[in-house]
Amino acid sequence: MATITEPRTTLAAEVSAFLKKPLHKAFVGGRWVEAADGATFDVVDPGSGEKLATVASLKKNDVDKAVDAAVEAFHQSGWAKLRVNERSAVLHRIADAVEKRRSIFAQIESLDCGKVYPQAESDIQNFIDTFRYFADLAQAVNYRNVIAVKHHEAWVARHPWGACGFIIPWNFPFLLAGWGLAPALAAGNTCVLKPAEDTPLSALYLCQMIQELELLPAGVLNVVTGLGETAGAAVSQNPRFRRMSFTGSPEVGRLVAEACGRNLIPVKCELGGKGAAVVFNDVDVAETAEKLVQAITFHSGQVCCDATRWLIHRDIYDDFVDECITRMKSVQIGYPLDSQTQMGPLVNEKQRSRVLGYLEKGVRDGASLILEGGAAKVPGKNGFYVKPALLAGSLNNVAAREEIFGPVAYLAPFNSEEEGIRMANDTDYGLGNSVWSGDLARCARVAESFQSGNGWINAHNVIVHGVPYGGIGKSGMGGGVVSPDTLNDYLRPISVVRPL
Ligand code: NAD
Repeated sequence: MATITEPRTTLAAEVSAFLKKPLHKAFVGGRWVEAADGATFDVVDPGSGEKLATVASLKKNDVDKAVDAAVEAFHQSGWAKLRVNERSAVLHRIADAVEKRRSIFAQIESLDCGKVYPQAESDIQNFIDTFRYFADLAQAVNYRNVIAVKHHEAWVARHPWGACGFIIPWNFPFLLAGWGLAPALAAGNTCVLKPAEDTPLSALYLCQMIQELELLPAGVLNVVTGLGETAGAAVSQNPRFRRMSFTGSPEVGRLVAEACGRNLIPVKCELGGKGAAVVFNDVDVAETAEKLVQAITFHSGQVCCDATRWLIHRDIYDDFVDECITRMKSVQIGYPLDSQTQMGPLVNEKQRSRVLGYLEKGVRDGASLILEGGAAKVPGKNGFYVKPALLAGSLNNVAAREEIFGPVAYLAPFNSEEEGIRMANDTDYGLGNSVWSGDLARCARVAESFQSGNGWINAHNVIVHGVPYGGIGKSGMGGGVVSPDTLNDYLRPISVVRPL
């Protein structure tokens, strides 16, 4: 296992200045605010284990004020009433401004969540693309749909809902902020975003940029920093929201959905996954192994829709395993900003213990550890590094059934198409599965047989603006993201009817 330390990039002056702030405050009603009780929490660089920033830790009263600011901005700021093309122009200006600062955002994101720099850059690009996609889509929507019915004049009008809440996790902080905020803003809503406590910095830098360039009226975008069980719970329980979106674990998703249910607020939940790759015996074994190893080591396996169960046709199983082991052993683990690094750290010590714990639990439950994994050392860095690992055995194993969220795949052989499909669907999750074969008719058949929101062919983790992405079962409910349906979710329909 190779480890490296050479620095890729020196920090931009803007990044150093941003990180030097003694306190990173929340952004509420266009102003920077501390928690009323003065509470703070520290954010740590996962690659070094060192403190990166101190951030305001908001409580219920603080969060409620942010929701009030968003409600007031919805009614008073003019944002909701702007002509659609003018609002779209603002979204494009935000995208342009982020694009100009791409490397600043990428460095902040890389440091904050331990993301390898090029992956952080591509997340920033995804945010830009998301804003542009919804800015353009918003101009193509029919906001007044006339319905032809006998003896009545009728139409459906679409208006923004009001204040919308967003609670997001730490694995793709900026990208997921874009997936939530862009459609809501494009539709004329106002927003309160609660980033994860591990990774609030890119959202705060976004607010700083928006404030400096006066891109949005005060209160249209609010960012509330704080812990999940306090600030997050306060967001989920506030009755003044008109829509809620939660991305994160199924456990917390249930709590958020329950709270929204009590207030009868429509909620979208984008949750965890336990994706399968079903690999047939006609594939190029080396190429497919390469792609799946890339997928499971991408962002250290902290990807909700990743292929974590590799179901391999028995004819090629042994060769496939050998190819994977060779490749996983050569993955370069290192500091996220180092130029040679292919895989960075996990986000925190808790996540590292979780991943290492699942290796132990899996073995205790009968699996074979065919590539050992374990904690990894990067010289001079006290970060949360682990090596990639492979388990194999019966799918009725804790490590094959539960989400690990690290660079760990679970292998099992299958004999027939029916068996491959059955094994892929033998899970409570339903986010993204893939099928790998040269027979495209078979691929289409298998992909449509998956009980999941997404079926991918000869690739994994394929998320494209315009194609609905969402989960079923334990992986989510309530809509999905990045498609025309998403924009519609942020538009409130009202049917207007006049008997003739
Ligand atoms: P998490 O559920 O622990 O936290 C997510 C967010 O919820 C954070 O902002 C956290 O502060 C907040 N939170 C925690 N407790 C809360 C509470 N009681 N009430 C309200 N909010 C609370 O998830 P995580 O560990 O940050 O992220 C990993 C999970 O996210 C994995 O399960 C992963 O699969 C999932 N995920 C899903 C998608 C998707 O698109 N389906 C995308 C990324 C991540």
